[in-house]
Amino acid sequence: MSKRDYYEILGVPKNASEEEMKKAYRKLAMKYHPDRNQGDAAKAAEEKFKDAKEAYEMLSDPQKRAAYDQYGHAGVDPNMRGPGGGGEGFGGFAEAFGDIFGDMFGQQGGRGGARGGRQVFRGNDLSYAMDITLEEAARGKEAQIRIPSWEACDTCHGSGAKPGTSAKTCGTCSGAGTVQMRQGFFSVQQTCPTCRGAGKIIPDPCTVCSGQGKIKKQKTLEVKIPAGIDDGMRIRSVGNGEPGSNGGPSGDLYIEIRLKKHDIFERDGGDLHCSVPVSFITAALGGEIEVPTLQGKAAIDIPEGTQAGKQFRLRGKGIKGVRDSYPGDLYCHISVETPVKLTEHQRKLMRELEESLKKGGGKHSPSGESWTDRLRNFFSA
Ligand SMILES: [Zn+2]
Ligand SMILES: [Zn+2]
Repeated sequence: MSKRDYYEILGVPKNASEEEMKKAYRKLAMKYHPDRNQGDAAKAAEEKFKDAKEAYEMLSDPQKRAAYDQYGHAGVDPNMRGPGGGGEGFGGFAEAFGDIFGDMFGQQGGRGGARGGRQVFRGNDLSYAMDITLEEAARGKEAQIRIPSWEACDTCHGSGAKPGTSAKTCGTCSGAGTVQMRQGFFSVQQTCPTCRGAGKIIPDPCTVCSGQGKIKKQKTLEVKIPAGIDDGMRIRSVGNGEPGSNGGPSGDLYIEIRLKKHDIFERDGGDLHCSVPVSFITAALGGEIEVPTLQGKAAIDIPEGTQAGKQFRLRGKGIKGVRDSYPGDLYCHISVETPVKLTEHQRKLMRELEESLKKGGGKHSPSGESWTDRLRNFFSA
């Protein structure tokens, strides 16, 4: 299924300013607000809102926007999820609105409301470097990676309190998770320093998880690497980062692609380059030579008198980038080989050849005359 363009979702031009995007997003958020979309319309509105939220999140982050402009959805794919889901259960509507209204109207806005006043924190993003070969990048691949995951502690069943004890309401904030601080004439709401927003404290922490309620483990994640991916591109896997706290959403996992050096090809976007050694005899007489391509061997005819450095282009034998409709080309750069370890007989033939070529004057040497002229000018200056 092809995803809609983020700019299209927000209804802004590709060169929209941050202000324009924010305005457009705000408008959509109002339109799809649950208060205005009851019953059957609610589900569709929620989907629409999620799309708008995703589009805005991507485009309002300059780094992600640049990746998206360059590589499209493949550069910033937020739909990738692990087999265990992992991300479900938090991306709810209330939080989504908490995000945007918190952002629009200041931190005190919607953030706490849905969660009984407690501060929720999004988990940290994680990054994972993945080395892939050029062939894998060209074809795409399914990979399995091991990433850290957190599971509820078996001993305390996630409460963080030693078995037989329980968490107590925080005395500093009376369970609100926030405290009012006076600064001059203003009263500012801050995260409670005692419970760090949790609203409760654990007097007797579980020894197995040190009161965290969760234990770090490893899990296997299936990752789909799209064909055409290039060095430095990042794939986003939503919700597979570190878990949030107090019920906040998990962070995201970013898989950064690193292309391994290839023995034969060098990649430049969709194009490939390779150096093909050709004997000086073949270069002089012309003939068919074999060249490598990612799809197998190919043959090209090189004309008589081919010079070193000459390049031959094989159309469409490059790589189709993730945003491209057509593959790039393969450039074969001719490197003329000077023969080595000559026998006495071969030396003799070479000298005879040289004598014969000399008799032809400059006509056998394509750059000879202009070179001689340039040398003369250089030394007489
Ligand atoms: Zn525990
Ligand atoms: Zn507190």
